[in-house]
Amino acid sequence: MSTHPTTARPMDGTARAAELTARTAAGAAELTRRTGTAPCLATVLVGEDPASVTYVRMKVRRCELNGIRSRQVVLPAGTTTDRLVEVVSGLSADPEVHGILLQHPVGAHIDERAAFEAIAPGKDVDGVTMHSFAAMGFGLPGFVSCTPGGIMRLLDAYGVDPAGRHAVVVGRSAILGRPAGMLLLARDATVTYCHSRTVDLPARVAEADIVVAAVGRPELIRGEWIKPGAVVVDAGYNPGNVGDVDFAGAAARASLITPVPGGVGPMTVAVLLEQTVRAAAVQLGEDPAALGL
Ligand code: NAP
Repeated sequence: MSTHPTTARPMDGTARAAELTARTAAGAAELTRRTGTAPCLATVLVGEDPASVTYVRMKVRRCELNGIRSRQVVLPAGTTTDRLVEVVSGLSADPEVHGILLQHPVGAHIDERAAFEAIAPGKDVDGVTMHSFAAMGFGLPGFVSCTPGGIMRLLDAYGVDPAGRHAVVVGRSAILGRPAGMLLLARDATVTYCHSRTVDLPARVAEADIVVAAVGRPELIRGEWIKPGAVVVDAGYNPGNVGDVDFAGAAARASLITPVPGGVGPMTVAVLLEQTVRAAAVQLGEDPAALGL
């Protein structure tokens, strides 16, 4: 008989994101009441990649529903780096814009890093600039990358303290795996990064108290790799609503697990909105904490 008769408790990202967004909406309403100015997120989309169009539309809609204005900038696929930097710099300098989201990817011919760096640090509500990365790396306050930030919120909501735990992050992209590891390290986890060159991934994952899957390969992480009682966070999102983790297999061994969909995904947008209202508060001379943020 199994010594770990668990069926993991799901970490309900949809519910936790709704709670965070309700607090954010209340903060946005109070900020608007106090200052006469509603928070404003500028979105910048280059080209017509269908997934990017959908993501931006969804984020804009979520803003509108929660008292955040948006300004949508759509540029043709052939936009040059210079032009994109010019547009983003204009938004950085515009006092009516409080947060900037440059939707990734922007096209291979564009120097994406140059475009990201044109975002003023105080408006980097998607956590993509070197400034925000440094803050995450130092464990200092600042805007976090939204998906990793959402992962940390989920862990907190379910009482998972990363301190002293071994966190294994599978994936090291700049928007997801790498900052997820940085935030876990800042909370005193012992962090291992795995990637495409990692040898013996199953053995590395089997050592984890906390597994963060951030790869983009359907069900790469097998249930039998999971240490009994581990916490499994699946940030992967693959066609057909499939995560990077074999959910059924992992749920039979883990203590907590995120579903796909309804786990990490909703938290990402909730963090974007919260950071937008916090950015607006600071720019409008209000203390975010006084707004409940
Ligand atoms: P990415 O930029 O393609 O990075 C994938 C990472 O996985 C890379 O670091 C890569 O290693 C690593 N990798 C690839 N094959 C591997 C293997 N066989 N074993 C171990 N590591 C492997 O992807 P991403 O942008 O981080 O996205 C990852 C997943 O998260 C995707 O499914 C995406 O849709 C999802 N995502 C979800 C959200 C959300 O809001 N829920 C947000 C962003 C992304 P190398 O570095 O060595 O190439």
